Amino acid sequence: MSNAQQIMNETEQYVLHTYNRFPVVFERGEGVRLYDVNGKEYLDFGAGIAVFALGYGNSTFNKAVKGQIDRLVHTSNLFYHEPLRDAARKVIEHTGMSKVFFTNSGAEAIEGAIKAARKYAYLKDGSNDHEIIAMNQSFHGRTIGALSVTGNAHYQDPFRPLMGGVRFADFNDFESVRAQVTDKTCAILLETVQGEGGIYPADPGFLTSVRKLCDEKDILLILDEIQCGMGRTGHWFACEAYNVKPDIMTAAKALGCGIPVGAFVLNEKAAAKSLEAGDHGTTYGGNPLACAAVSTVFDIFDQEKIVEHVAQTAPYLEEKLDALVSEYSFLTQRRGMGFMQGIVVEGKPVGEIVRAALEEGLVILSAGRNVLRLVPPLIIEKADIDEMVMKLERVLGRVG
Ligand SMILES: *Cc1c(COP(=O)(O)O)cnc(C)c1O
Repeated sequence: MSNAQQIMNETEQYVLHTYNRFPVVFERGEGVRLYDVNGKEYLDFGAGIAVFALGYGNSTFNKAVKGQIDRLVHTSNLFYHEPLRDAARKVIEHTGMSKVFFTNSGAEAIEGAIKAARKYAYLKDGSNDHEIIAMNQSFHGRTIGALSVTGNAHYQDPFRPLMGGVRFADFNDFESVRAQVTDKTCAILLETVQGEGGIYPADPGFLTSVRKLCDEKDILLILDEIQCGMGRTGHWFACEAYNVKPDIMTAAKALGCGIPVGAFVLNEKAAAKSLEAGDHGTTYGGNPLACAAVSTVFDIFDQEKIVEHVAQTAPYLEEKLDALVSEYSFLTQRRGMGFMQGIVVEGKPVGEIVRAALEEGLVILSAGRNVLRLVPPLIIEKADIDEMVMKLERVLGRVG
């Protein structure tokens, strides 16, 4: 039996089977390329699900993280440490928000945002029957709270009863959102660009109207930028493209570029009247290692002008993908912003295309029911895009 086969078999023997993994055992990464245990090279347009923005082996990132491991990995949140100060300052400066709380994951960032919104409303009227409006086809994570606001019956049904006080509306349908507003609504939660649901950017008119509605009714607008934030759309955060500011924003995925960390960030209004000492906590969240990663990620983004690079290079990616869509009859649409792109596939199983791409040495992902998802490291160049298209054409030729 090959080494790869043995690793896969033993993994399945011990790890709870909640993922149907692709039969690839990755060993190391370099730039925008991954290598499996057989030495086969893959061009990575998945980035560990929109996480590894900087490419593999960035020496500044590696040095900062290794240096922090040697100094101090963990202290708990009972004490101060310099990486927390630095990471928090950089999050606040780059979001234009007021306060940040660091978590270990995206789902936990959503949990914190929900708690902050409920506390805000509780302090206002003292009642505890507040409601959150979330979107159909959304994705916010797998913990019970985050799952409760994830508008996907397949994910939710086996785990009911979920958290109460959640109403669902249709993304990009303002009237359906307004129809769910009651006296008890404390927050409206949405992804600025829906990711797992199939790469749907918010319509500008929709997002602006939701913001206005929130202002009129003193409802907090929570924007989930866990996937679409951190430069992926060619803006630091996707909401900047819309000129819409949230009251609470969540980040994770690329925030620590692979070191597990998330955050929820509050504007002055939400921070002033929500979570207080004793209301929320975490043992690991924002520990020195995680904060050193966050801190160096912001520095590298600034120094290497990553966001500008995405904005400059994304039109080339879009042009190439549009060409594919017009060439192949079973590709019917491209959707997305920046380096967060989806291609709609009709009449062919998306999973088969993803699998065939792996055989051709290309990592791509799927989203929703029938969407190919491209979320490459943010450092890809035009030559990488050309190579991706060449490989994808071979794949499409095979399945078509
Ligand atoms: C991935 C994701 C989450 C959940 O993050 P985890 O770190 O997996 O808990 C939440 N919201 C969005 C938009 C995501 O893409």
